[in-house]
Amino acid sequence: NAIPTLRQLYKKGVIPVGSSTSRTSVQNTLLDRISLWQGDVTKLDADAIVNAANGSLLGGGGVDGAIHRAAGPELLKECRTLRGCETGDAKITKGYRLPAKHVIHTVGPIYAKSQDDECARLLASCYDKCLQLAVGLDLATIAFPSISMGVYGYPPKDGAKITLSTIRNYLELNPGKLSQVILVVFSSKMMDVYLAQISEIFPPD
Ligand code: ADP
Repeated sequence: NAIPTLRQLYKKGVIPVGSSTSRTSVQNTLLDRISLWQGDVTKLDADAIVNAANGSLLGGGGVDGAIHRAAGPELLKECRTLRGCETGDAKITKGYRLPAKHVIHTVGPIYAKSQDDECARLLASCYDKCLQLAVGLDLATIAFPSISMGVYGYPPKDGAKITLSTIRNYLELNPGKLSQVILVVFSSKMMDVYLAQISEIFPPD
């Protein structure tokens, strides 16, 4: 059940090529450091999985509920000690009964069209803060669900663009860190959205 890297997805023809309008070709190694996988993030034995939490950090629906169910009540107990989290910020806990060693809880923006720029800034900040926490603890692998793109209503295409460009920028600036960043999509529809954006933001070399 290996998780394919972007390079492997290009090789297999899964990512569409040729439509890219991007002028800057991507650093070679980035295609080996990023993976895309459709499934349940709670199943992954990464050093950290990211939780799309709410500001209370006391659990919720969607991926948050799934992570708390799989991690067990010890996770909620540790989360209570954190006293919440600001939108756009992130906090780390242990993974407890999850196969993952840590959970990085981040709070995405609730999307509002009237505040599009601010929502974009906050969503990018979520990815940045999670990556900073992981690198600060010298973690090698991190898996992200599609933050804010469920109940919080972020338009998937715009959300995927922000996700991919923020991760690209971070990895380019931190070449020795994070050997694998896994983008986890839950639905085939979201998979298609990500595949289309990957061919723009990570054009093949
Ligand atoms: P938010 O409130 O930040 O929008 P949601 O949990 O509602 O968070 O949704 C975020 C994304 O996570 C959605 O694309 C949703 O389909 C997806 N998702 C839900 N459950 C899981 C899971 N177990 N693993 C991975 N992704 C999931």
